Order: sequence, then structure tokens, then C-alpha cells
Amino acid sequence: MVKPLVKEWIRDDIRALNAYHVPDPGEMIKLDAMENPYLWPEAMQQLWLSQLANVPLNRYPDPSAAKLTAKIEQVMAVPKSMKSILGNGSDELIQIICMALAKPDSVVMAPEPTFVMYQMIAQFTNMHYQGIPLDEQFQLDMPAMREAIEKHQPAVIFLAYPNNPTGNLFSEQDVRDIIAMAPGLVVVDEAYHAFAGHSFMPMLGEYANLVVMRTVSKMGLAGLRLGLLSGRPEWLNEFDKVRLPYNINVLTQFSAEFALEHSDVLQQQTDQICADRIKLQSALNALPNITQYPSAANFILFKIADRQSDDIFTALKQSGILIKRLANPSGPLKNTLRVTIGTEQENAAFIKSLSDILKH
Ligand SMILES: *Cc1c(COP(=O)(O)O)cnc(C)c1O
Repeated sequence: MVKPLVKEWIRDDIRALNAYHVPDPGEMIKLDAMENPYLWPEAMQQLWLSQLANVPLNRYPDPSAAKLTAKIEQVMAVPKSMKSILGNGSDELIQIICMALAKPDSVVMAPEPTFVMYQMIAQFTNMHYQGIPLDEQFQLDMPAMREAIEKHQPAVIFLAYPNNPTGNLFSEQDVRDIIAMAPGLVVVDEAYHAFAGHSFMPMLGEYANLVVMRTVSKMGLAGLRLGLLSGRPEWLNEFDKVRLPYNINVLTQFSAEFALEHSDVLQQQTDQICADRIKLQSALNALPNITQYPSAANFILFKIADRQSDDIFTALKQSGILIKRLANPSGPLKNTLRVTIGTEQENAAFIKSLSDILKH
């Protein structure tokens, strides 16, 4: 019997978890995961394929992915005096940070609602997680943050900038005040930087306890799994010790370098998504009873008065459109839904279905 063994040896808190569930989109229009909907132009794809044939799969990758790191630092404008490490997605970087900081009783703090991986990884690494509610406008509740920071002395504070699932940027001054008052590390997670137009990357030199995280996932390369963590060498040298040596595989190293050589294509796609965000916002505005929240990201959080988000989600799904229904939304997130900006046609199909649903 396996079961008693599992019960005896697997940690209670792990057995109590539900596995992270990602629905199978099948043939549906996929507007649930903040993906860029565009592929590359045919000629670029062919060039990539022909060069890919020369990537030596029999060899281990460059353990520190030096060429790719240099390229991505250049594209992401990492200040010269800073150091970076790469992760298998920024999820892995969150894990690396937590592994390196996880002393007994150390605390991970984040404003809530936010990206769920901060809490999950805090738990996996046996750290204590403290979530501090955002205010009604989804801004940082500074008195509450100040009190919580003084009380819990967090080893690390994660700030998603823009925040997911709310889509907004926090006030820059509030973020600066948190960095200044934090006893430990502050990670500004800029997963949506491409759509935001604001960054703490240029401010790395101003603080002793700031690191900035980026990912290529929301820029059109979600399938590659590649994130970047940048900051002072003193911090990054320690995080690098926890990183598994070959965490960025040869296909990702090659393909990301290739994509970043053609960053104008990615930039064009990003510009298109930003333009379509404005169109989608006005189309949503024209629907009855809708509240949508400001977005500096490639998704929009919205809710519809007197309608259950579950019903809207299910009706959209029946019409072939998959958006995101948040798990256990409560407080200001109650009844909200999150839609990713897709292609112009996908956005139009979403608006058409949603307006049909609202007529019934
Ligand atoms: C999507 C997302 C990430 C995850 O990025 P990966 O590089 O795909 O692991 C990190 N942080 C936030 C806030 C996100 O929304």
C-alpha cells in the first residue's frame, strides 16, 4: 500500500494543496493566460528553423548562458554595474530567491491580490507568507504595509509592477517608500514591463535592497520559459549559487538570442497589443453595467453588475472563448474576470459574445 507511506512522509501542507490547474483550451480562443497572440513573420520563422538545426543537443548548455545574458541585459537596459541571472521562467527566479532567503521563521510579504506564485513558493520553501490587502483602488495600503513590515520584518517583499491580476501600476512613491522602509530585499516583478512604460530598472543603483525581475513570457516567448533577475552583484552572486547549473536549455538559449536579435518584431507586436488594449477598453466601456479597471498590462480586469462571474465565464466558454476566472475571488476581486488582449479578431469575437450574453 502506497497511501500510508505517502501520508507518513509527504509534508502535510503539500498533501493539503490542490495542484495548479491549467484548463485545456482545445479549439477555444485563448484569452486566459496573458500570452502574446502573434507568431513571427514567415521569413523569420524559416531563418530560426534553419539555424536551430545546428544547435548541439548532445552537449550541455553554457551553464551561465553568458551570451544570452549579455544580449538580454542590453535589450532590457540593465545598468552596467548590475549583474543578472536567468531562470526557467521568472517562476524559477522566485524559487531561487526564496531558497536563498529561507531561514527558519523568515517571512515573505506581498500586497494582495497578486501573483499566486509568491505565496505558493513561500510555502514550498517553508517560509511564512504574509499577504497585505491593497486598498479599494488596488493601490498599496501604506499604513497597513508600514505596520506589517515593522511587525513581521520580512526577508523579502514581492511587488508585481504592474500588478497581476489587477493590471495597475502602484504609485512610484509608495514603492520607493517600501524599498526604503524594508529591512530585507524588495523584488519588483516587472513581468508586464513591455506594456507598462514604467520601470525600476534604472533605479537599481539607488538602493541597497532592490532587485528587478523581468520575463520574456508576456513579450511573445511564453513557450521558451525565460526570466531575468537583475541587481547588485552582492545579491546576485548569492542567488547564482542556488541556481541549478544548466537551468536554461540549449534550445531556449539559442531561440531567445535569436528572438532578441529581432527585438523590433517583438516590439511591433507589443505596440499592436497596446493599441488594441485601448480599443478593447472602449468596446468594454460601451457595454451595459460594466466596471473595468485601469490596465498597464496586456490584460483587463472587469466585472458586470448583478452578474455572477461564474455565469459569464461559462457562457463565454460555451461560445468558444476562454478567459480567466480567478480562484476564490473575494473582497474587491469578487465577481471579477480577467481577459487577455488577443488579436483584433479575437478581441472582436470576445466583445460580440459578451454583448450577446448580456442581452439575456
Ligand atoms: C506571468 C507572471 C510571471 C511569470 O512569468 P514566467 O516567466 O512565465 O514564469 C511572473 N510574475 C507575474 C506578476 C506574472 O503575472
